[in-house]
Amino acid sequence: MSRRPLAQINTSALLHNVQIIRELAPNCKILAVLKANAYGHGLLAVAAQLKDAHAFGVARIDEALMLRAGGIVKPIVLLEGFFHADELSQIVASNLQVVVHHVAQVEALLKAELESPIHVWLKVDSGMHRLGLAPEDFAEIYKKLSESPNVLQPMRLMTHFACADEPDHPATLQQLALFKQTIGDARGEISIANSAGVVGWPQSHGDWIRPGLALYGVSPMTAGRATQHRLRPMMTFSSSVIAVRPVKKGEAVGYGATWIAPRDTRLAIVAIGYGDGYPRNAPCGTPVLINGTRYPIVGRVSMDMTTVDIGDADIEHGAQVVLWGEQLPVEEIAELVQTIPYELLCNITSRVQFRYISD
Ligand SMILES: *Cc1c(COP(=O)(O)O)cnc(C)c1O
Repeated sequence: MSRRPLAQINTSALLHNVQIIRELAPNCKILAVLKANAYGHGLLAVAAQLKDAHAFGVARIDEALMLRAGGIVKPIVLLEGFFHADELSQIVASNLQVVVHHVAQVEALLKAELESPIHVWLKVDSGMHRLGLAPEDFAEIYKKLSESPNVLQPMRLMTHFACADEPDHPATLQQLALFKQTIGDARGEISIANSAGVVGWPQSHGDWIRPGLALYGVSPMTAGRATQHRLRPMMTFSSSVIAVRPVKKGEAVGYGATWIAPRDTRLAIVAIGYGDGYPRNAPCGTPVLINGTRYPIVGRVSMDMTTVDIGDADIEHGAQVVLWGEQLPVEEIAELVQTIPYELLCNITSRVQFRYISD
């Protein structure tokens, strides 16, 4: 067994999650979102498993080119489109599709002389106010792009939710209504739902769903857990105990001496730290799993090590320590460190070993 920090990625869980997603949105095509190294799970390894996806979504062109270089031939959508017109020739050459969300992109696309037309996903800002055409600009831009020899017809029409992770948030229905009103009877397949839309807002499913987090087996809902949606986490993040030592009541532990042993106890020193992507701001009491039992971390997380109060438990040097995984939801750890699971998954660093398994 590996003694180093290990991200074990279960591809059977991925296939299970795709199946659950298909059951939730049976008539939809799936644009599987693989940005940020497939949310830290490994871009090519995940893409290679996703035979049932109809297309892949990435944030930036270099992610798309890595997929192409890795032999992926499925459609790939650049979710933020091109950042500069000089990317367009590469987009055509690599057969990429683009989201168009800004007037400057529209103008560049109309002006370009492309060797062949490309697929465009025209994005409307229905209330998130990050990317997207203003609703009042939609009709004119849709018409112009409809007549452009650079654009395959019909375009696809999309928007993105700001608050779909909150089950009763009124913004989501307002966004849906504004999007529908904006596109009117414009021709084209529609795409609205991220994972939270897939799980929590069936009326948003449209023609194409765009799940990211749910693929990886993590709940996209605020305070949610994977098991509520029958999802299975793909990742088990673990390391091992490199020392077990006693500490006396009143002795301080770790940088800043922030934790003082309230009783005589024993500590397990675990080879995991913020240099691996375990969050430094994990508070005292954040659980880890050793031999199936939860123990609290104490003191500060350092770059390479974390200390765990194991009392008189029978734990030895070399024991495996799970930081998150099927029995210790990453959603729970994210709540304790006041972030979201997305960030914890993306933050795993390159010195962590990856191992791919299936059931
Ligand atoms: C990242 C992203 C998604 C996927 O979001 P999840 O919450 O991970 O499902 C969907 N659509 C767009 C435009 C995105 O940028």
